[in-house]
Amino acid sequence: MTKKNDPNKGLYYLRSKKYCKLKNTEFMKKYRCEVCDWIYDPEVGDPESGIAPGTAFEDIPNDWLCPVCGVGKEDFVEEPD
Ligand SMILES: [Zn+2]
Repeated sequence: MTKKNDPNKGLYYLRSKKYCKLKNTEFMKKYRCEVCDWIYDPEVGDPESGIAPGTAFEDIPNDWLCPVCGVGKEDFVEEPD
């Protein structure tokens, strides 16, 4: 017999969801602005410009600009770990 409301089920779901989120951002690369050296960190995003935390650099809209110096995505380079 399975219980109708297993309290551990929800907890497990939350845990696995958090784990997935951490896993995803782990694979996301940081990008550095070649003009001002500002770093885009996918885990942080750019909330002031409407980029939610967890957004990969590749998924940022092409009209997004560096929040510091205002250059476009084409002036960003992949930041090695
Ligand atoms: Zn910049």
